[in-house]
Order: sequence, then C-alpha cells, then structure tokens
Amino acid sequence: MNKQEVLSILDEYGFQAKKSLGQNFLCNEDVIGDILDLAQLDKDTTCLEIGPGLGALSEKAVLLSGNYVAVEIDTRFQPRLSEVIEKNGGKVIFKDYLQLTKDDLPDPDFAPEVILSNLPYYVMTPIMLKVMKDFPSCHKMVFMVEEEALDRIFAKPGTKQYGPLSVLTDLFGTKKKCFSVDGGSFYPAPNTVSSVIGIDAGGENGTWDPEWIGFVESAFALRRKTLVNSLSSSGKYSKERVLSALKALDIKESVRSEELLPSYFVRIYEVLNERKDEN
Ligand code: SAM
Repeated sequence: MNKQEVLSILDEYGFQAKKSLGQNFLCNEDVIGDILDLAQLDKDTTCLEIGPGLGALSEKAVLLSGNYVAVEIDTRFQPRLSEVIEKNGGKVIFKDYLQLTKDDLPDPDFAPEVILSNLPYYVMTPIMLKVMKDFPSCHKMVFMVEEEALDRIFAKPGTKQYGPLSVLTDLFGTKKKCFSVDGGSFYPAPNTVSSVIGIDAGGENGTWDPEWIGFVESAFALRRKTLVNSLSSSGKYSKERVLSALKALDIKESVRSEELLPSYFVRIYEVLNERKDEN
C-alpha cells in the first residue's frame, strides 16, 4: 500500500485518521514487505494482528497465514476490513484490545504463534504487556514502536528507563531492533521516527510465566523505594516474607528493583511463591 492508495481508501470510505487512536497508516511497500518477512508467516501459522487500520499489513498477512485474526478498535473500518480480511478467510474482532477477553476470540483455544502490530503508540506498553499475558505460547512478536520507546524496551539495570517493559520483554524472549522507519512511511506522517522490533519467545530462561507480569509491575510500583517496600505495599507479600526471600537468595535488603537483572525477579518470585504454598 502506498500513499496514493491510502489517500484513495480514506477518500472512498470517507475516513479521516483519528489522532486520538494513534492512526498513522503505513504507506511504504518496502517497509510492509520487510515487516512481513520478519513475521515469517505460512499456512501453518496462526497470526493475530492488533490494529489493522486500513489493512496495509493485513491484506498480505491474511493470505500468507493459515489462520488470521485481527482486533481493531475503530468500527468505521468495518466495510474496508470486511473486503480485505474477511473475504480472504480472516476474522476481525471490533474491540479495544485492552478490553479483549477469551470470550471475544473465535475459539477459546485460539493461540497465535505470531503477533503483529504497528502499535498505536498511546497504548503501546499496556498492549505489549497484555499480549504477553493473553498469549503466553506465542513464538514471535513483530511490533512497530516509537523510536523513543526503544530506550525503555532495551534499558539495562541501573538506568532510569529500566522498568517492567524491559524486564518482562527480556524474560519473554530474545528481542532485537530490526530497522528504523521514517515518518514519511506513514500517512499522516508522525513527528517521530519509528522502529520495528522482533521478540522471539524463549530467552535465557526458556520458560515464560504470565504471572511474572503482575509481580514485576508490583516490584516497580514504588520506584524510589526498596524492592521490599514496593512488593509489600502490593498487599500480596508481607515485608518479613520478602526480606526472608532476599536473604535466601543472598540479595541485600536495601536492593531496589532497578538494580536487579531480569532473572533475579524470577528467582525472587519463585522463592516467595514456594513459601506461600507452604504456609
Ligand atoms: N496496521 C495499520 C497500518 O500499519 O497502517 C494501522 C496502524 S495504526 C498505527 C494503529 C491502529 O490501531 C489503528 O487502526 C487504530 O484504530 C488501532 N487501535 C488503536 N487503539 C487500539 C486498541 N486499544 N485496540 C485495538 N486497536 C487499536
């Protein structure tokens, strides 16, 4: 889909891009092709796309994958997506992805191997976290993100940007920045540069537990406080329990979440939850 096509679709259906929904439509065929190459879709692949918009990625993804489902918040796109996706065997769920439940899915066992999204930037973090929670068996994620967000996604311990997004994407798998995309590749053009990232499941740990999401979020809830205070303020673990877990792992009492490598969150979670079962 190029800029001329995007303009003519907007004109044909009488749409205007909604800034409030992060609508910047891809209009660069090379970028679209490169994203689809990264996604490695084939007929054995189940693919979920979040925010198909006018269908720049979807029109090809639906033909490449064996089972394609998209979730779009903007019901205005219904006639366009029916043409591009549903007529080609895919399904579209019109819903805010953040409100999506299992009941909305085509079948309760729906488990996409590949998740694709040119993410609406205003809800990038909650969507990325929800995807890891909803679809723990997903093999590969390919996301377009705002370049500024890379600092948070790839942040290292001890930095200001290090937080739940960096820790959890690290625990989920192996992430990499694939390429940058300039504003001119979208209509309307955003002021920022974007980046395509890939996350392949199976990091150092080799396993993923969606329960880690809430745990890591609680660990960072009070950023300026110690891990003990932050975790105990969630009400789930007492101060004494967190202190004894840290002791068992030989971690100093005064540790703050931003100092810990991702694997340490898992170790602390495991010790805390073993103890809970025993009590
Ligand atoms: N995939 C299209 C493309 O690449 O041209 C559109 C990408 S546009 C950056 C983001 C899309 O996400 C829009 O279609 C927007 O309506 C949709 N969207 C925004 N918030 C959403 C949400 N909470 N749940 C599902 N879709 C959402």
